[in-house]
Amino acid sequence: MPRDFLKDARSRYDVVVIGSGLAGLTAANILGRAGHSVLLLEQHYKLGGLATWFRRPGSHVFDISLHGFPHGMIKSCRRYWSSEIADRIVQLKNIRFENPMFSLSTTFNRTDFTRLLVERFGVEPATVEAFFDTARGMNFYDDQSTTTGELFERFFPGRSDIVRLLMEPITYANGSTLEDPAITYGIVFSNFMSKGVFIYEGGTEDLIEKMRSELLSNNVDIRINCAVDKIEVRRGRVEAVEVAGRRIETGCVISNSNLRSTIFQMVGEEHFDRNFVDQAREVRLNNSSTQVYMAMKPEVEIDEACGDLLFTSTAEEFRTDLLLSRDITSRTFSFYYPRTRPEAKHRRHAIVSSTNANWSDWAGLGDAEYEASKQDLIETTLDALDRFVPGIRDKVERVEAATPRTFQHYTMHQMGASFGTKFEGLGVSRALPQQIDGLYHAGSVGIIMSGWLGAINYGVIVANEVDQQLMKAATRSN
Ligand SMILES: Cc1cc2nc3c(=O)[nH]c(=O)nc-3n(C[C@H](O)[C@H](O)[C@H](O)COP(=O)(O)OP(=O)(O)OC[C@H]3O[C@@H](n4cnc5c(N)ncnc54)[C@H](O)[C@@H]3O)c2cc1C
Repeated sequence: MPRDFLKDARSRYDVVVIGSGLAGLTAANILGRAGHSVLLLEQHYKLGGLATWFRRPGSHVFDISLHGFPHGMIKSCRRYWSSEIADRIVQLKNIRFENPMFSLSTTFNRTDFTRLLVERFGVEPATVEAFFDTARGMNFYDDQSTTTGELFERFFPGRSDIVRLLMEPITYANGSTLEDPAITYGIVFSNFMSKGVFIYEGGTEDLIEKMRSELLSNNVDIRINCAVDKIEVRRGRVEAVEVAGRRIETGCVISNSNLRSTIFQMVGEEHFDRNFVDQAREVRLNNSSTQVYMAMKPEVEIDEACGDLLFTSTAEEFRTDLLLSRDITSRTFSFYYPRTRPEAKHRRHAIVSSTNANWSDWAGLGDAEYEASKQDLIETTLDALDRFVPGIRDKVERVEAATPRTFQHYTMHQMGASFGTKFEGLGVSRALPQQIDGLYHAGSVGIIMSGWLGAINYGVIVANEVDQQLMKAATRSN
């Protein structure tokens, strides 16, 4: 008989959270801590969503999305998770850029970027300051018609080298482009510039295990291998979820699944206003990614001068279409030295190459073509890396690749979207509870609410709203 992953689950919970990405995990934790009964349902056999890892023989562990996040993670993790988690967040100090326009290293914060822009790129200090202040002053309620490209043109007209320095890492971090609203750039860029780039020491597996323990201590009922098929809505209210052939009652659902899947697949458009459905249809998914995971032989040491994050490009100029093209010119290499996992029994070095990618370049390939394209991705990546780690082919013990199809397979994100939706997704996600009582969404949307920090913070915002709704309902029934 197949295993029952819902064994002993209750018939009703105050809240059901669908999906265990960082937003879902955080929302579940806050609500469990507040004393509500919470069921967390994850379709995969692991928690974490895109914040994940995989192991391979030879004591190799690969992180998928642990490349860098802003300093704000420390505060969010301390407040909404634990000091134990927050204390493991450390700065990456050597961020490198190598492209035909420039070659430099930076700590990636405002002080160092100011120095570079003034001394290296010859910009007036007052202009640099005004640019930083403008970016930092941006918020969601600002003018949304100015694009990031226009913002750069205002401060650094005709300077495609500066655009590249300022934009390349952010495009990598959240898939935003020069054509997106400037606030999507300003908010994320300023978050990074406050103090630099950080990661979690101990690896993703340690973070997620600590989060799991915290959830259990807050009485969250965690169920893996449980894909939700349907969110049941009657007379404009959430009533239940359908999962693995069971119906579990609840008045409140937080979906951490992709926004479009939530609306069109799990709820069904017949439950929403026509205008809302039209708006939801217009929401564009963000791009996807490819990655190449390279594990070094046990005896190989990689010189730390290679950097922590290395933004490379062979393209003569910075263009959105080039960043996404299957004919890859841009790669971001993350170097994982043994200090990434200080407690590991074996010293291991790994390098992960990431590139933004279009779903359409991978979706339609037949099996043989797909395998050949993956192999080509691996070979061209090794060639590109050899410039920075000479003799890489002799150093590497294991190499694997992931494509947009891999990301879709593991997270059920339509088209393998790495960063949820484009900007317009945020308004649609926020409007769900006005459409259906008790229906919420928390997860990568709108560029701003994506990435580890954006997802966690969105989970916090939504959990607080749900908490208020539950408290009001409890007061009414008393
Ligand atoms: C290659 C790559 C590199 C990245 N690098 C970075 C980085 O360096 N720094 C950074 O900050 N961010 C990075 N990101 C982005 C970051 O990982 C994500 O934005 C963030 O982890 C998303 O969290 P989320 O809460 O939106 O949920 P997700 O991680 O998208 O998880 C959603 C969860 O819902 C589950 N689910 C979906 N449908 C159902 C269903 N019907 N029933 C049950 N469960 C369901 C999925 O299985 C999944 O676990 C990267 C992303 C990718 C792809």
